[in-house]
Amino acid sequence: MAQHFLLAAKSKTISEKQVARMSEEEARVTFEKLRWSDTDGEPVCATCGCTDSYIINTTSKSGKPIRRYKCKACRTQYTVTTGTLFASHKLELRDYLMAIVVFANAVKGISASQMSRALGVQYKTAFVLVHKIRASIVDNQDNIKLDGVVEMDGCYVGKTRPENKKEDRLDLRLAANQNPNKRCVLVARQRDENGNGAIKTVTGVTFSESSKVIDSFALSNITKNATIHSDGANGYDNLEAWYNSIKGDHSTCYVGDNGESSNQAESFFSRFRRLQYGQCHKLSNLYLVNYAIEIAYREDNRRVSNGAMMIDIATKSINTPTHSEWTGYWQGNKRVAERLVA
Ligand SMILES: [Zn+2]
Repeated sequence: MAQHFLLAAKSKTISEKQVARMSEEEARVTFEKLRWSDTDGEPVCATCGCTDSYIINTTSKSGKPIRRYKCKACRTQYTVTTGTLFASHKLELRDYLMAIVVFANAVKGISASQMSRALGVQYKTAFVLVHKIRASIVDNQDNIKLDGVVEMDGCYVGKTRPENKKEDRLDLRLAANQNPNKRCVLVARQRDENGNGAIKTVTGVTFSESSKVIDSFALSNITKNATIHSDGANGYDNLEAWYNSIKGDHSTCYVGDNGESSNQAESFFSRFRRLQYGQCHKLSNLYLVNYAIEIAYREDNRRVSNGAMMIDIATKSINTPTHSEWTGYWQGNKRVAERLVA
């Protein structure tokens, strides 16, 4: 059987126009090939794993065509989205594919309001959709530790803006005057051996760069004996106990004579700030770590074609189980606590 056009080598790049011109059936077949890749898109029962099924073609109340399958073994009915992030979907499957290509093309991230304009859907719909796509990236991270040469650093969000008049300004160095919503996004990036930037990124959210947090984050995510580059902050002092710790001094230079640098960590923060200031403006602390992981994914895949990235995100989305956080979000079913570095 000929390879699906979206999966062929020639679709190294893909445009939103190409997806917009797809039929609903083509979009369904695309998702089926990505969900049931072991059977080249032939349906596999979500309940019992049987591959024998009857086809039931129906339409939704709004006239949207729906392809259902009825398992010959257990008689359960299912569709390509059953049990996934996109279960009980209201939009056409083509809209989900469109959302994914728009998301993949947005190299600095995308806000829910921009997605709502791109798809012509309500803000609330777009908000949940973008978060579901992001959640599929978060849930599909591997747990392989960083190795070799790693750069670590932190950047702060939710800082208090100084008052207009000098006499009204508070000393923001004092803990009592700091914004309680301030958080630190920590990042660790493994450098490419051949000098082509960073190849793998891990990120997490915390209150500050204390040595306790830095130690815990490093030991959970970086193999011992790796070399860690950091800036001159005190929180990184203890790393010497487990790692070859190299500290730069940004007050004198950004790249030291012996290669001390955290430029790859800065590159991550640069893209993160573009998402924060240029796209979303307000990042909820509840989901801050999800935004950070999205940016880590974009940084690590910066040389991947948008077509390949779209297929990767679509594969992750259609294989991620139904998400408790994103089912009934606007009915009050949401995350209750922040995910912070332990
Ligand atoms: Zn079955």
